[in-house]
Amino acid sequence: MLRDIDHFIAGEAYASGGRTGDVFDPNRGEVQAKVRLGTAEELQRAVDAANAAQPAWAATNPQKRARVMFRFKELVETHMDELAELLSSEHGKVIADSKGDVQRGLEVIEYCCGIPQSLKGEYTQGAGPGIDVYSMRQPLGIGAGITPFNFPAMIPMWMFGPAIACGNAFIVKPSERDPSVPVRLAQLMTEAGLPDGILNVVHGDKEMVDAILDHEDIKAISFVGSSDIAQYIYSRGTANGKRVQAFGGAKNHGIVMPDADLDQVVNDLAGAAFGSAGERCMALPVVVPVGDETADRLREKLIPAIEALRVGVSTDADAHYGPVVSQAHKERIESYIQMCADEGGELVVDGRGFTLQGHEKGFFIGPTLFDHVKPSFKSYKEEIFGPVLQMVRAKDFEEAVRLPSEHDYGNGVAIFTRNGHAAREFTNRVNVGMVGVNVPIPVPVSYHSFGGWKRSGFGDIGQYGQEGIRFWTKNKVVTQRWPDGSVTGENAFVIPTMG
Ligand code: NAD
Repeated sequence: MLRDIDHFIAGEAYASGGRTGDVFDPNRGEVQAKVRLGTAEELQRAVDAANAAQPAWAATNPQKRARVMFRFKELVETHMDELAELLSSEHGKVIADSKGDVQRGLEVIEYCCGIPQSLKGEYTQGAGPGIDVYSMRQPLGIGAGITPFNFPAMIPMWMFGPAIACGNAFIVKPSERDPSVPVRLAQLMTEAGLPDGILNVVHGDKEMVDAILDHEDIKAISFVGSSDIAQYIYSRGTANGKRVQAFGGAKNHGIVMPDADLDQVVNDLAGAAFGSAGERCMALPVVVPVGDETADRLREKLIPAIEALRVGVSTDADAHYGPVVSQAHKERIESYIQMCADEGGELVVDGRGFTLQGHEKGFFIGPTLFDHVKPSFKSYKEEIFGPVLQMVRAKDFEEAVRLPSEHDYGNGVAIFTRNGHAAREFTNRVNVGMVGVNVPIPVPVSYHSFGGWKRSGFGDIGQYGQEGIRFWTKNKVVTQRWPDGSVTGENAFVIPTMG
């Protein structure tokens, strides 16, 4: 009998009938559980629970809300091993990466422990005669998060942490491919003292997502996933009058200047291009060496480093990365490898046909390297999201700035150099949202904000940090005057005119 993965509504598991989806063990290529695929009916149940609980939660003072975050942080730390194992078993990433997934989410929770400070408004005394003006940030009511498969702990926490700390109720719709960790996190929030109904998890696919997009009581939606779906979420959600931030796919470039420390670059690329099997929106799947000489030297060092990467099951502590998430995704990545070869890319290391003894049905792909990839290739323009590194040779610095700037995606980019001026020029001019200087995966720390540009991000408010607080609240400005009844004559209270 396969395990069922239920919704989590009003503080408890909720089993709906109807359709279910397969949840695989990517290491073995076998179905390990069934997730319920909910409908507008289950969503309504979650919305009812959220509506019942939210006013009291919003009225709970921010310090008490922060205490729940503190307790949750401690619980997640205590359950780190369990969460990482659960995450790896459905996603396929190695345990160390799963712990990183949990940890990067937890850092946003730590930021939320300071919510009383973040929510403080502004105040002006004496804006007019006897008039003071102040602002306050109020919660929206109910928020929702629709999340991708690749960070099943981090991204839900990026969303529900700030939303809940700000006084909202929240509904998470996780990826149906690895839905268990968000449920476990919601259980731990309940254990931490969060009132029932403030954090609900509903499972499903497009049907559930559409129900969320159309539900009148859901005031804001945060989405992370692929770009076409992000654009759809943004259009339909905003057309329904909701606040929406929708983060999409990526094709991040790593620029390698001739003066870069190539050993460091190779080490960084091994992790950033192939770690987590390349299934990271901040991965570096494109490397741009500046000048043929740099490219040749880099290639010489890269090949042995790539060949030394160990691909293994997600519980293999020595493996650099594990299987990809599904058979369909494996086939999609392999079709891009074929496409890039057909387009004229030089296939230097071919990861297709990789099998792991004892796990022949697992969704494994070996690391793959292409050289002489051209900007006109479809395989360069599109996101592959697998362990595939494409080398695009730039003739000079100007071309290296142009490539990521003109690409449709604009999530992250990195430059490797020892030249401060080149780095400064690059960071100023490049048309991309998050930039690393000798940092391959420049995901901003929790007290800054995350957000890509162009087709990597629809909407204009970033995820977490102060932008996250802005996203999950609305600003109210109060202009107040307290007339003193004893004041008479020329000081008597009069209604101000606009003149
Ligand atoms: P996806 O777009 O397939 O799914 C994301 C979510 O959308 C899931 O919850 C899914 O159920 C839902 N969904 C799927 N199809 C839908 C449809 N037709 N209508 C409505 N909802 C639908 O993405 P994924 O494969 O789970 O995740 C990988 C993608 O996410 C990659 O493109 C990656 O770059 C991107 N990503 C982006 C960021 C970022 O911050 N920019 C972070 C992580 C992942």
